Amino acid sequence: MRVIIAGGGTGGLATALALRKVGIDPLVLERAPAFSAIGAGLGLQVNAMKALTYIGGDAHWRQTCARIDVAEQRGLADDQLISASTYDAQVRKYGEHYYCGHRADLLASLLGPLPAECVRTGSRVVGLEETPLDVRVQLDTGEEFSGDLLVGADGLRSQVRTLLFGEQEARFTGVVVWRGLNAACQSARAVLREDHHLARPATSRAAVPAAAPGASGQRVQPECFRAGRRGAPRILDCLG
Ligand SMILES: Cc1cc2nc3c(=O)[nH]c(=O)nc-3n(C[C@H](O)[C@H](O)[C@H](O)COP(=O)(O)OP(=O)(O)OC[C@H]3O[C@@H](n4cnc5c(N)ncnc54)[C@H](O)[C@@H]3O)c2cc1C
Repeated sequence: MRVIIAGGGTGGLATALALRKVGIDPLVLERAPAFSAIGAGLGLQVNAMKALTYIGGDAHWRQTCARIDVAEQRGLADDQLISASTYDAQVRKYGEHYYCGHRADLLASLLGPLPAECVRTGSRVVGLEETPLDVRVQLDTGEEFSGDLLVGADGLRSQVRTLLFGEQEARFTGVVVWRGLNAACQSARAVLREDHHLARPATSRAAVPAAAPGASGQRVQPECFRAGRRGAPRILDCLG
């Protein structure tokens, strides 16, 4: 069985690893000419860590990310502690930790165990055709690939979804998230301690920057976001 996966983001690469684990041959078609350090910091909670480990994609991630044991929210102006919590209870319950790192390191971790022939960059999917026997996928270069199954993992503006279901308007769920990125560590009063515990400076109860060391020990941009239901826009004064 051969599965074609459109899109080599975290979803597409994780799917490819999971398929190989059960003996299925994947082919990832990624439109970007190469995998590069696009993105920012992200955190993987214990459930994601368990899944990443199960599919064998955790090695590089564990080497480059930061284990987060303590979360703190602090006022940006005065560095005063607003709240703090530890992850001890979930570590005891699930036997796994919460980790923060850079998206590029997660991609590298997922890519590492995949044989080179499973992933094709510079391969933008522009068309598909379902036949009684297989599915055929066309690239913008005119090349065509066939497989038993096509997985659309091509992101928010999925071409596969559009080809299957037509253009669709995004549906407002009622949840509003405001987020932004700091220039690395500039505005954070206390970002990363040497013991790799995470301090989270905040402008309000709901603003939660996160920071972690990335590839080669470089720090990842702290990120700030504010979530609420139909909340009013607010510019966080910690944005760089
Ligand atoms: C700044 C930021 C922080 C985040 N933090 C977290 C976090 O802490 N924890 C967490 O779990 N999630 C986080 N997320 C969300 C998470 O990054 C996304 O949910 C996840 O990356 C989505 O993965 P994906 O593979 O579905 O899509 P994407 O990562 O968008 O990948 C889609 C891929 O498909 C490719 N593609 C697109 N069109 C085509 C085409 N026609 N043909 C071939 N290839 C194509 C794209 O080039 C891309 O590589 C964050 C997101 C952002 C933006």
